[in-house]
Amino acid sequence: MSKLVIFADLLTAFIKKQTLLTLFFHQPLKPYFNDMFATYELKQIAEKIVPKKYLRVAGMQVLRATSFLYKGNAVTCPCCGHSFASFASYGYVKRPNVLCRHCLSLERHRSLWLYFHQKTNLFKDKLRVLHFAPEHQLQEKFKNAPNLDYISADLDMPTAMIQMDITNITFPDNAFDVIICNHVLEHVPDDHLAMSELYRVLKPGGWAILQTPMSNKAETEEDLTITDPKERERRFGQDDHVRTYGMDKKDRLESVGFKVDLDKFLYELPAATIAQYRLMLEDIWIVRK
Ligand SMILES: [Zn+2]
Repeated sequence: MSKLVIFADLLTAFIKKQTLLTLFFHQPLKPYFNDMFATYELKQIAEKIVPKKYLRVAGMQVLRATSFLYKGNAVTCPCCGHSFASFASYGYVKRPNVLCRHCLSLERHRSLWLYFHQKTNLFKDKLRVLHFAPEHQLQEKFKNAPNLDYISADLDMPTAMIQMDITNITFPDNAFDVIICNHVLEHVPDDHLAMSELYRVLKPGGWAILQTPMSNKAETEEDLTITDPKERERRFGQDDHVRTYGMDKKDRLESVGFKVDLDKFLYELPAATIAQYRLMLEDIWIVRK
């Protein structure tokens, strides 16, 4: 592991050296930096070489070190409170102006942050929270929230606090007031079992947020016999997805006992807020027991 740490340090040093070059050349290198360190393609290549948690630290350092080039108030990140002339671009299909240059939040992180504050008791009441596949921007805030008894879990994410299979949750029934589980179910072959487990460990009266990529079709498109990553990418949008949910996701969640609410919170925000925070309009899938 120490070799990896040294490598990460070297990478960071390299990046900082590049930052000095940017300072020297300024404008000509600006687009290069915007793409070089914020794009999905480079992230994927780099992830093969450097463990994610070091890469994230290095990536964050780069974005922060170069953020003075993007001084301004055109966009604001509600997660960290920083404003810029623009966010960085990001995504497999590149989305311009979406990645926070300070905390690396994306549209969906900022949306949930606003939702939690404005529409839930998450930062008000004493709550026991289970967070699957923890988004690091949110995890750090939750860990530091004095009212939360917080635990994060994932099958193989190194930044999660415990390793756990969502289809075999190692907690007793009715253990959590809140479960946050975003962009997970589309990866899980037996999503019925995963949903049943989430329902089992949620307390009566508790709530969970279960966001996934959605199509606008009525029925979920899924084929568990497809295992070729390229074919999965073609059919379901990402090489490790096993389905794309349609609106029958609601029926699936109700079949295990959840009361399902598609909250239109984001659609009700003023256009100026959507633009300032760079949010993407989608339903918030909040379920209750
Ligand atoms: Zn931020």
